[in-house]
Amino acid sequence: MSDIETFEAVIQSRWPGPPGEKAARYVGHFTDRTRTGSKIVAKVVGNHGAYTVSIAAGGGGVTSACSCYIGKGGYCHHCVALAHTFLRDPGSFREIQPTPREAVGGLPELQASTWPASHWRSSWPSSRRTGSPRKRSPKASG
Ligand SMILES: [Zn+2]
Repeated sequence: MSDIETFEAVIQSRWPGPPGEKAARYVGHFTDRTRTGSKIVAKVVGNHGAYTVSIAAGGGGVTSACSCYIGKGGYCHHCVALAHTFLRDPGSFREIQPTPREAVGGLPELQASTWPASHWRSSWPSSRRTGSPRKRSPKASG
């Protein structure tokens, strides 16, 4: 299985230095660590709740994402911390065999935080072509 070694090397080159002070606090504190092929997902508790952080490698590049408010593009310290958590202890990530067909419904929680936002947005305009740009009413929470 050189799969995981390649993934490690890619992560290493993407986050070569030691984690910064902010990220270092989270290294090793991730829960629900899973790896599916060359994608890892884990959760960490930050200042405002638990975040789902993911890093995926493919096509010669690495993409990362986090559910925190600055982590959409994957540039937050949680992603850095996840990378270093993985590099320190790759074996702590439970391996999940990728399902050949659509795995929708298989991993409800993991997909819930990364999926719907973009999926909804793309399906919205086509289903309602009235042309009136109405703002979606924000959730009353907070
Ligand atoms: Zn984050």
